[in-house]
Amino acid sequence: MGAGGGRTEAIMREIASLRAQRDELDGRIRFFEAQLRLRVGGAASHTSKLPPNLSTKLGAMGAHDATAAGGGGLSADMVRRYSRHLLLPDFGVQGQRRLSQSSVLVVGAGGLGSAIALHLASCGVGSLGIADGENVELKNLHGQMTHTEAYIGQPKAKSAAAMCRAINSSVKVFDHNLKLKAKNVLNVVRQYDIVVDATNNLASRYMLSDCCALLNKPLISGSTIGLEGQLTVYNHNGSPCYRCLFPNPTSCQSSSDKSILGVVPGVIGCLQALEVIKIATHVGEPLCGRMLYFDALTSHFKTVNKIHESSLSTCAVCGDNSNFTEDTFMMFDYESFTRASNSSKQPLPSLNRLPRTSGVTSREYKRVLDSGRPHLLLDVRPEHHFQIASIANSVNIPLHELKERLPRLKDALSEVVDVSHGKHRPVYFISQCDDDSQVAVHILRENGFPYASDVIGGLESWAQEVDPDFPIYW
Ligand SMILES: [Zn+2]
Repeated sequence: MGAGGGRTEAIMREIASLRAQRDELDGRIRFFEAQLRLRVGGAASHTSKLPPNLSTKLGAMGAHDATAAGGGGLSADMVRRYSRHLLLPDFGVQGQRRLSQSSVLVVGAGGLGSAIALHLASCGVGSLGIADGENVELKNLHGQMTHTEAYIGQPKAKSAAAMCRAINSSVKVFDHNLKLKAKNVLNVVRQYDIVVDATNNLASRYMLSDCCALLNKPLISGSTIGLEGQLTVYNHNGSPCYRCLFPNPTSCQSSSDKSILGVVPGVIGCLQALEVIKIATHVGEPLCGRMLYFDALTSHFKTVNKIHESSLSTCAVCGDNSNFTEDTFMMFDYESFTRASNSSKQPLPSLNRLPRTSGVTSREYKRVLDSGRPHLLLDVRPEHHFQIASIANSVNIPLHELKERLPRLKDALSEVVDVSHGKHRPVYFISQCDDDSQVAVHILRENGFPYASDVIGGLESWAQEVDPDFPIYW
């Protein structure tokens, strides 16, 4: 891209930044305006309060003091805004008042966190904290409803907070623009009554559960992958913590799969917000000791009693004989703890990695391409990845089909070898990053075809080093 294009991008970024600042200022102005209205409303209700002796007499007759029953804190504005809540017999004024006195921390402002934060802001929690250390990217906008294009490149915590303030300026919204870790999370969590795990990340799931167990805070935990989701409530009303269920991480708990249908975290996030409301208002029966599963393909919900009583007493964190302290917690390396489970689920062939000399860099492959030398570029990603984006003239053979298609492939490869007269490598494999293409080279060599090579760093390197316009979907 030329200098003109760079200047245009800089101007667009500046416009987006200014718009974001304007949105934030608008939100703060609305917040203070609402505070002003609340003060005026509070003063009016105070002047209409019944004299104490009359109120006592009416109380003895079984009548309610209108100020105590309705006001107890709800201004005229609040009554107008939350009238649909107030009309719910089980919820009513008391439920709304409890909600307005609650403070909730949402950790993660992605797909789950967006749905949670928007609902909690609109339903009128007292204080809402949003913690996230990442910035908004274009790929977030398909399912993370709290972010807008104007905030691309800006912190997610600030973006989500601005949207929440815009929806309900009477809620105190705090943005924590940082990645919560064992060293800093205690001080943040201490400030709130209820914590919501919206990180969709195994290390954070263990860390937040341990933190909430230490500080005795309820934790509403949700997670999604692909077209499925699940949620439960930990550490509330005697319910277990995450470690009670999974003392140590296993490979089935974590996944590097980034595929997700945007609406699925929306569904789970809404349900997490519902659990927050139930806990804050003491209305209903929170999902304590039970796990809810959602299958988007069949629209099936299933709730199972996941927990056995025995797991509670033996838990290393919340069990009877636990010696897990805040100091232990702050020294604990959650990334390493959960990484061990990831490493155990690598497919076997990747253990037989080739020496890196067998590959070419993406720039070297570009020179091969430009030279016009006859060769084949075989892309071993899954077909649906190949359909998203691919290098021109590459051929897709998904890795799991390679062995099956080898006999026919070898015929085609022999022709290319003949044309190249053995002067250069006629076959290159490419995948998204590295592992799969190396496995493909290995398979070919094992089957008597030594002329294959792969592109180091795969398409990620290609997009970074050679073709900046290559669509990045990972
Ligand atoms: Zn436990």
